Amino acid sequence: MDTYAAPLAAIDIGGTKIAAALVDGDGTLLARTQRPTPAALDEDSVLGAVVDALDELAAAPGWSEVRALGVGSAGPVDISRGTVSPVNIPGWRGFPIVDRLSGHPAVKGLPVVLAGDGIAIAAAEHRFGAARPYDNVLCMVVSTGVGGGLVLNGELHTGTTGNAGHIGHITVDLDGDPCPCGSRGCVEQLASGTAIARYALRSGWRPAAEDASAVAVAAAARAGDPIALAAYHRAARALAAGIAATATLVELDAVVIGGGVAQVGALLLDPLRDHLRTYAALPFAAGIAVHRAELGTDAGLVGAAAVAAHALSH
Ligand SMILES: [Zn+2]
Repeated sequence: MDTYAAPLAAIDIGGTKIAAALVDGDGTLLARTQRPTPAALDEDSVLGAVVDALDELAAAPGWSEVRALGVGSAGPVDISRGTVSPVNIPGWRGFPIVDRLSGHPAVKGLPVVLAGDGIAIAAAEHRFGAARPYDNVLCMVVSTGVGGGLVLNGELHTGTTGNAGHIGHITVDLDGDPCPCGSRGCVEQLASGTAIARYALRSGWRPAAEDASAVAVAAAARAGDPIALAAYHRAARALAAGIAATATLVELDAVVIGGGVAQVGALLLDPLRDHLRTYAALPFAAGIAVHRAELGTDAGLVGAAAVAAHALSH
């Protein structure tokens, strides 16, 4: 296993929670804390929650040995400017998170390294998870949204601003539904948990209980409900088209898929493999390995630490 010498500090900023951890060289969390994201509040209140989590972490044994702080954030991010504008945190638009954290007393002197959450997940899976054997791999999260990050030629591929690999906003349906990103027919509009539930309801599926989530659609699909099955097949097809486009463009060895929706396993991944055979047709793009992600809910923290470690070694 690829390890780094000292513990690293990591923060993972999302629309619902802010988590912070001290992460050991093998990816183990030595200390961990989290807060709800006060997403509806102003920029200082959101920063207050981040700093509060960081201060708690700074009191943990081992903080004095920390060599860098990795910050993973929901996007869009701009790693060239050190700013973040998470879609689900409206109070932060072009928010200078790197500057603000660099000036915090517990952090002073440590390098602060920012990454988008898709890149963080890719870093975690490449260093410690299912992407380890591969030099060219797309790591995806299929959840309420669809995101991802790329490893190309064995290195994280961030792009100039850190948003490369954002497969959720590749168009796979030319005349599809408008997407909040400004485009239409994006992978996310067909394959996110929200999209799966929306499609099932629109097609006439009625949940047995009040629960109209993608999890409830999955349960119905397993029980043989044809509409629920069609909703997952449609999501799998959209994902396959997006993956095939990526594989054709950059030549992938594998794709690693995590997130809540991917936890349904074969219900999504079997049709996805079938559709990949259709869409990834050229010999160099065919035969991509499809794996489930190996890191769980803390992949964002492990990945933020991995990105910081990576920055220290370059
Ligand atoms: Zn979009």
